[in-house]
Order: sequence, then structure tokens, then C-alpha cells
Amino acid sequence: MFWGDKIVEEIKKEYKNKIGSNEPLIIRDEKTASGRVHVGSLRGVAIHGTISEILTEQNIKNKFIFEINDFDPMDGLPIYLDKDKFFPHMGKPLCNVPSPDSKAKNYAEYFAQEFVGVIEEIGFHPEYYRLSDLYKTGKFNGAIKIALENAGKIREIYKKVSGQVKSEEWMPLQVVCENCGKIGTTKVINFNGEKVEYICEKNMVRWAEGCGCRGKISPFDGNAKLPWKVEWAAKFSVLNVDIEGAGKDHSTKGGSREIADAISREVFNRKPPFNISYEFFLVEGKKMSSSKGAGASSREIADLLPPELVRLLLIGKDPKRVIDFIPDGDTIPVLYDTYDKMAGLYFQNIKDDFNRAFILSQKSENRGNIEEIFLPRFSQIASAVQMPHVNLYEAVEKMKGAPLTGLDKKETDCRVQYAQNWLKTYAPDDFKFKLQEQIPEAAKQFNNKQKQALKLLLNYVKSQKELDGQVLHTHLHEIKSETGIVPQELFSAIYISFLNKRSGPKAGWFLSVLDKKFLEKRLEEVIK
Ligand SMILES: [Zn+2]
Repeated sequence: MFWGDKIVEEIKKEYKNKIGSNEPLIIRDEKTASGRVHVGSLRGVAIHGTISEILTEQNIKNKFIFEINDFDPMDGLPIYLDKDKFFPHMGKPLCNVPSPDSKAKNYAEYFAQEFVGVIEEIGFHPEYYRLSDLYKTGKFNGAIKIALENAGKIREIYKKVSGQVKSEEWMPLQVVCENCGKIGTTKVINFNGEKVEYICEKNMVRWAEGCGCRGKISPFDGNAKLPWKVEWAAKFSVLNVDIEGAGKDHSTKGGSREIADAISREVFNRKPPFNISYEFFLVEGKKMSSSKGAGASSREIADLLPPELVRLLLIGKDPKRVIDFIPDGDTIPVLYDTYDKMAGLYFQNIKDDFNRAFILSQKSENRGNIEEIFLPRFSQIASAVQMPHVNLYEAVEKMKGAPLTGLDKKETDCRVQYAQNWLKTYAPDDFKFKLQEQIPEAAKQFNNKQKQALKLLLNYVKSQKELDGQVLHTHLHEIKSETGIVPQELFSAIYISFLNKRSGPKAGWFLSVLDKKFLEKRLEEVIK
């Protein structure tokens, strides 16, 4: 059973009553808008989004809400930003830091908009809200009061669950300093039921400097925020969350989720939401943080792949398994091959997990009418676009073995565009080549066996009116047995002759799409 269907079965058992009452199940996810968003953050979006879609498919009312956390302090400076300009804002709530451009409302919005754009583009449509709005409109006032009145209990939970010891006077709240506007530098020292007293400390954190002032202020209506693990538990209550997963970094024993769950139960008297714990999304084996800069942002990956492929990348694996995305390796051609294989099973109406993953990799709005199309192999398209003389539709028609429909052509255009972009950006050298106008020097060093094999190839090519990639592939194997040549010697001779490289695209197909006259001429030249 596909992982999403399995999880939905569990959810149906757990929330039988709520589902029966026809009240929508609330699914929640969030992202702190502290910089360009790493592609890994899309995994949570896709898992929650897919669960929401499956529930909807089964006519179970649900609402997927997505928080743009814009009220956390700015606690890191992304390398792509001007250090001098932004350092003075370190420690302020993200919604109060200026935008890197002149257009966005603030710093958080600048990065949030890019991420929201990607989420929508890949076909998930949660309801977005800003954390700062919840605080400012007083939605958190009740939770803040409860947390302050239960400071001792919260300290105990931290100690019990994670072994983290907070000092006797620690209070679960941080105030926006009235003097310097920072929230990351303040310490609340008491609460009289109406107001909190706080100090803006110079050296409390390494990444920001407080102004040293003391003050007394109401903790409500956006003047202050809860520390994030307490806040997490408060969100469960305030937003009435039923389903919320958490990434592996939060899901360890004694980790933040376990603390939040305990606070939810013991302080806010609420059963924590159904958890879906999910593994990392690595890029080249690393869990890069979004502050490290370019190379793995969600925007970049969404530019590299069409929406359906991004979705498959995100949901194709069980959440318990790590995704390791290597854009400059063979991840992308392999992902296309997997997609094509799944599509094939779907079009043959074979009902299995692959079929299911294929359906869910389509945007929900497109799922009603998935028409059968021919999917030209991505690696071959990537090769074909590097051969200027090749007519792409003709090449794809040869692959299909039948005339292309309008939709086939559209799909070809799409893959051509993404292949060109991939070759320009991440494609490894193995996939790149240039057809050699002149005979490469290395082709003059072929041994007799190589020349003999190429001669047989030439004879065969001459005997055919038109070349078929698959038939040519089979014929190459015949040449191999006839001459006794080692496969590597044969194939390197072919690639060197045309590409001046020892390896290249699938040889039979590659030769079949070359201009026949050029092919014959070159073979004649190299066997001399
Ligand atoms: Zn201050």
C-alpha cells in the first residue's frame, strides 16, 4: 500500500469521531522565513499536502494550513546578504527586518513569497497564515497567560523529557524590546498577571546584541512571543491541529517534538496531533541549512524539473526513507526514468504502489483526465538537443515508432526545455558532448580490431535505407561476436570517432539519429 494511503487509514481510526461529526481535520505545516528556503522544506509540504489530497479523495473534510513563521528572531545572516546592512537587525522579529529588495513588505515576506510561489507551482494549495498576525490579533493571548502561569511546570518538562535544565527564574516568553526592537535578546524576569518585566541583555546570545534596557510591558497582542517548543504546543491548541508531521531533526528521543507534545498534554491539556515523522531530504549527501546559500533552494529545484517530477521526487519515497538528491549526478535522468516507468504501469492500468505514486505526482487539478502520451527518454532528449542537425520531433517519432500526437509534441517540447536547462546548469560531463566536425586525433590511433569492427558497421549502415536505434544496437552486438572485440574497445571507438570521448549516449540510438551521409563519411575516414 502506498505510504500516504496507509497513514490515512491510521488517521481515520484515530479521528473517527471528528470525521463522523463532519468537522474538517486540520493539517498543519510551517516554515520560518529566515532566508532562501532549502528544497528539503518541500518534503514536509508534500507529505502534508498529499495526506490532505487523499483525505479529500475519500470525501473526508480537511483543511491544510501553512504557517509562514515571520515572528522568530533573525538569528543568522545568509551569506548572500549584505552583512553591514543586516547585522544591526539581528535579533529583531523577521517581520520587522527590512526586505532585501524594495518590493516586499519585509524580510520574511521577501523569502516567503518565493517559497509560496514554488508550493503553488507544484500544485499544493494550503491556506497560508503569518505567525505575527496570530500574535498581533491576540489569538495567542490565552496561551501566553497559561504558559507564564505554568513556567515551573514547563521547566520541569524540559528537564524530564530532554534533560535540559532551565534556571529557576526562566520564564517561557520573550518580549520585543521597546527600545531596540529586538526579541532575541530579551529575558522576562517576572509576570504580575498583567505585565511582564524584562531585560534586554547585551550578551545573552552570540548572534545579536541587546541594548541593556529594562522595561515593563503587557505580554499580549504581539508584544512578545513564546519560545518555540512552547509555541509549537500552543499552536496545536490555538489552531486546533489534528495532523502535523515533523522532520527527523525534531523527532529524536528527547527532541523538540517530544517536548512540545508533553507541553501540549500537561500544560495546555490537549492531545498532541497525529505525528508523521519524516526523514531528511539531503542534497549531495548533506543536510544543508538554508542559510548556506545557493545550490539547493526550492526555487532552483523547481526550475530544474517540471512540477510532476518535483512531486514524484518528494512523495515517491516513504517518509521514513532518506531522499538524497544529487542534481549534478544522475538523479535527474533516473528520476525521469522512474516517472516514465510508473506512467507506463498507469497507462496499462496495473494497480500498484507505482500507479498510485504516479497519480499523486500529478497535480490534483489535472488528475481527472490523464491522457496517455509518449514520454521520450530524458537522457536521449538531453543527447539529441546536443546534436544541432537532429530534428527533435523526428527523433522522438523514431523512439515512439509511431506518429506523434499533439500532446506527444507538447511533452517533447517540455523535456527539451528542461534538458537544455539541465545541460546548462547541473548535468555532469558524462552527459555532455559535442559532435566533432573534424576527425579527432585519438581516432587515428585505432587498432586493427577496432578498424575491422567499424568497417563492418560501415557496411551495415550502407546496406540500410534507414537506421533504427534498436536494430542497430542488436547489430553492434553481432559485430562484437564476429570480430571478438572487447565491448569497451568497440564502443570507445564509436564515441571517439564522433564525440572525441570514451563514452556517450546509447550507441545504437545515437548512430541512428546522426545524419546518414555524415555517419558514413566519418566511418570511412577513421578506418583508413
Ligand atoms: Zn533592547
